[in-house]
Amino acid sequence: MKNEGIEGTERFLSPDRGRGLRAVRHFSVGELVFACPAYSYVLTVNERGAHCENCFSRRDDLFKCGKCKQAYYCNVDCQRGDWPMHKLECVAMCGYGENWCPSETVRLVARIIMKQRVTTERTPSERVLLLREFESLDGVASCFIILLNPSVRCLCLFVSFLLFFSVLPCFTCFFCLQVNCNGFTIEDEELSHLGSAVFPDVALMNHSCSPNVIVTYKGTVAEVRAVKEINPGEEIFNSYIDLLYPTEDRKERLLDSYFFTCQCTECTTKSKDKEKMEIRKLSSPPEPEEIKSMVRYAKNVIEEFRRAKHYKNILFSCELLEMCELSQEKMGAIFADTNVYMLHMMYQAMGVCLYMQDWDGAMSYGEKIIQPYSVHYPAYSLNVASMYLKLGRLYLGLEKKTQGVKALKKALAIMEVAHGEDHHYVAEVKREIEDQK
Ligand SMILES: [Zn+2]
Ligand SMILES: [Zn+2]
Ligand SMILES: [Zn+2]
Repeated sequence: MKNEGIEGTERFLSPDRGRGLRAVRHFSVGELVFACPAYSYVLTVNERGAHCENCFSRRDDLFKCGKCKQAYYCNVDCQRGDWPMHKLECVAMCGYGENWCPSETVRLVARIIMKQRVTTERTPSERVLLLREFESLDGVASCFIILLNPSVRCLCLFVSFLLFFSVLPCFTCFFCLQVNCNGFTIEDEELSHLGSAVFPDVALMNHSCSPNVIVTYKGTVAEVRAVKEINPGEEIFNSYIDLLYPTEDRKERLLDSYFFTCQCTECTTKSKDKEKMEIRKLSSPPEPEEIKSMVRYAKNVIEEFRRAKHYKNILFSCELLEMCELSQEKMGAIFADTNVYMLHMMYQAMGVCLYMQDWDGAMSYGEKIIQPYSVHYPAYSLNVASMYLKLGRLYLGLEKKTQGVKALKKALAIMEVAHGEDHHYVAEVKREIEDQK
C-alpha cells in the first residue's frame, strides 16, 4: 500500500508534544474524521461465545471452533479469517484447557509479532503512523519497570515457548510496554470491555482533557468523529483517560501511564475542578488538610477496588458492595454527593448491582449519578451516553416506560454524534424506543 495519508488531515510536529495529527480542512460536529482498522486485536476471554472472535459481531447464533471448542464465529469465513491468529492459541487451549490463561496484553503482543512476521508492506491501519515507529521509552526506566512486571516475564516465556521462534527478551519487553502505552480497549455502547487492539493511526493523535474527537468502534474498526468544530490548521486531540476527575488526579494518571505532563486548556484553567471536588455544606467547613486526607483515602479505595474487581461470585460481590457503601459513608462526611470520588464509588456500586441482577439498586445509583455526570464530562461523552443507556434499559425492564424512553433519547442524542447516525448501536437504540410505542 502506498502512503497516501488520511484525507483532510496531516501528520505534523506539534509544539511540545512531538508528532501529532492536524486538520487541513474544516470538520463539523459529528463528522467522521477517519476510520482505522485494527492492526491486531484480541477478543477478551469473558466475551467468548457472545461475540465473534474475528469480526466482534454480537449475536446468539455463533458456532464454535471444532478443535478447542472455545472460540466462536459467525460463519466459516470468519473462522478462516481468524485462523492465522487463533492457531497461536488453539493448540494450547486444547492441551491446557482452563489452566492456560496468559494476560490479554500477552495474547495481543503474540498476535502483533505474528502479524509483523507476515507483513512486509504498510497496512491500512498505518496511513500516518507505522507500528514500528511507536515511541521507545527511556532505556533505564523501562528496564526497571520490566523487572517489576510479572506479565512481561510471562510474555517472554510465552512467546519463546509458544511461538517456537527466538526473540530477544528485551525486544519483547519493550514491545509489551509500548503496547500498554499505545494499545486501545474496544468497548461496546455500555462501555463493557470487549477486547484489546492496536490502531497505529489512532495512536498518532495527542491527548487533551478537552478533546475535539471521540473514538468509537464498529466491530474491530476504530472510528474517529469530531465532537467540536475543527478548523483547518487545528490539532486533532483525543482523550487517553477518563475525564471525570479533577486536574491533579488526571495529571497523575497521565504521568503514570503515558509518561507526560498535560498542558491542555482544561489543565491550565482547571475550570471544572471546583464542581468536581464539591464539599458538603456544613456549619463548620472542613480544613484543607482534612480534604486532602480524604482524597488520599478515596484514591486508595479506588485502587483497592480496581484490584479486587473481578466479581467472582455473589458472596464476593456482596463484600464489594459493602466496601462501596462504607467508603461512601466515610467520604460523605466531607464530600457532597456530586463529588467525583462519591460518584466513582456509586458507579462501582451500580456495576455490582447489575452483576447481581439487583435492578432497583442499580437504577437508584444510576439516578444519582446521571445529573452530576452531565455536568462534569464534556458535552459529548461516551460515559454520559452509556449511563443514559444503562438507565433507560433499566427503566424499561422495570416497566417505567416514559422514563425509559426519555433516557434512551438522551443517549441517542450523544451517540448520533459520537458513533454516527448509521452505527448499528444507534439503530438498536432507535428500535428499543420504537418498540415502546
Ligand atoms: Zn464474525
Ligand atoms: Zn480453536
Ligand atoms: Zn489536560
